[in-house]
Amino acid sequence: MNSIMSSKKIDMTDSAKGSLILVNREHPLKGEIPGKLVNAGGDGVLLESRTAAMLQQLLKDIKGEEDITAVSGYRSYKEQEEIFQDSLNENGREFTEKYVAYPGCSEHQTGYAIDLGKTAEEIDFLCPDFPYAGTPQKFREKAADYGFIQRYEKDKEKVTGIGHEPWHFRYIGYPHSKIMKENNLSLEEYMDLIEKHRYGINPFVFHGNKQSFEIGCLKVEEEQEITISEDAIYQISGSNRKSVIITLWKEQKV
Ligand SMILES: [Zn+2]
Repeated sequence: MNSIMSSKKIDMTDSAKGSLILVNREHPLKGEIPGKLVNAGGDGVLLESRTAAMLQQLLKDIKGEEDITAVSGYRSYKEQEEIFQDSLNENGREFTEKYVAYPGCSEHQTGYAIDLGKTAEEIDFLCPDFPYAGTPQKFREKAADYGFIQRYEKDKEKVTGIGHEPWHFRYIGYPHSKIMKENNLSLEEYMDLIEKHRYGINPFVFHGNKQSFEIGCLKVEEEQEITISEDAIYQISGSNRKSVIITLWKEQKV
């Protein structure tokens, strides 16, 4: 039986919204926060609601709720500005530019980023200890299954422009997190890859979790209507670089 196709208009003003957005020095965040913010467990730590839910689920599944502390989540532009300025005063420019994003260019302003620390009496706010051992390492190993990636890896410093941050995780959602992990891609590199795959023409295909996924991109200046099956399960997210990414959940053919 053929499924009924219908056309859907894409709101291209959403190209700067969604869990796949790339935010860095070249791609500042436009406007204020996306999505709904909720409490993420830590002391006044807020996260976008799905990010918070997936974080709680992952912590629960690895029994990490006590060993791992949410140190810093959502920050407003003003907060990021204050943190940047305070760090300049206290730590100097070299350190600050390595570990603190410029106001407007911080992933923390999206609500999709979380800094995690190993629970301790004192936790460093800018560079919390999150070792490659014990429960933190268990978190790291499972993160991609729950949609998270460690965003600033040592071997990607040149690509991300940010120093190695073992504590900073970013929610981008499954299956994107899994594809990035399996192929050792930073978000910048993943965007480069996906933007070569056009929706409806040559989508990127990924098999995982007994499902197949088709991921394709549309540029803002291109057509703004897509043809999609009425019963399709899909997600649309902006990239924050003048495109949207459409992810289709497909049943795996046996
Ligand atoms: Zn961070």
